[in-house]
Amino acid sequence: MRHAVFVERGKVEWRETPDAVLQGDGEAIIKPLVVGRCDLDLAYLKGILPMPSGAPIGHEIIGEIVDLGDNTRNWKIGQRVFVPAQISCGECKNCRRGLTARCLKVPFGASYGMGREGGFGGGLADLVRVPFAKAMLTSVPDGVDPVTLIGLADMGADAWRTVADEIQDHPEARVLVLGGMPPVIGLYAAGIATALQVNVTYVDENAERRQVATGYGAKAIASITHLPDGQFDIIVVANPSGLCLTTAFDRIAPGGLITSVTPTLQDIEPIDTRALYSRGVRWAIGRPDCRHCHNGVMDVWANYGFRPEHVPTTRVAWNEAPEAWAMDALYVAAIRN
Ligand SMILES: [Zn+2]
Ligand SMILES: [Zn+2]
Repeated sequence: MRHAVFVERGKVEWRETPDAVLQGDGEAIIKPLVVGRCDLDLAYLKGILPMPSGAPIGHEIIGEIVDLGDNTRNWKIGQRVFVPAQISCGECKNCRRGLTARCLKVPFGASYGMGREGGFGGGLADLVRVPFAKAMLTSVPDGVDPVTLIGLADMGADAWRTVADEIQDHPEARVLVLGGMPPVIGLYAAGIATALQVNVTYVDENAERRQVATGYGAKAIASITHLPDGQFDIIVVANPSGLCLTTAFDRIAPGGLITSVTPTLQDIEPIDTRALYSRGVRWAIGRPDCRHCHNGVMDVWANYGFRPEHVPTTRVAWNEAPEAWAMDALYVAAIRN
């Protein structure tokens, strides 16, 4: 079968690999129908984050079940499903705690399309093997174009965890999103927060992304130097600059939550931990537990009207996915015929 692999900065190509086949009775084989280009893929393509040459790429997957083991609950051949980026058994100590990005049954951090251990391949492939069908798969709502939902497979789940639980606890929260890179995750965080009816300030030097944020109902500004006065209860750091992280620490309100959806890739000013201690703040940083957060983002989609497709999506034919993965576009979805 064909598999798209990362070759070098700016370059992905199709390669022939052995067919994905069932290796156990709890497994499923999926034929991808739509694969989205995660912001993480863009970081690999731009050389911002490392990726081994020859590693399969693509991890935002909606597909159709084409083969099933005997012990796969009620799943049926032909059903459309979301496949989470990360491999999770659903039963180990970590999975039971919701740490589905840190499953103990597979090599640490095993995922599709990220050059990690485990040999699970990537999503831009003719077939994808799902080792824990019961735990990993979730169904795609009937009658909805999967291309409009693909953003919920992975980046939507990542964005959801930055704001949703906290807004539930604090419906008056002021939210600040420091956007830029990862571009779409920051926009989704703004979109989910506005869907949950709170005030959002979105900062990004890029005019196209500011326009998307405004479309979601956020107040968008171009520079951190123009931030409104005061403090924010929830801050999402979707920008790897040192200035963004230090701004988050400066502007977080007492009891507030900062979530970094990217590592900070620049040196940062010394942080005044005494001031943070006195205010009492929380800082979360790390890979999202996508399977664990997926039900939550589907709830915001179904019951609060969050629409990922408001981020403009460049639709490309499946064959053209390798070239399209390096495209200068906000979001790309490769569609199988
Ligand atoms: Zn991703
Ligand atoms: Zn597990």
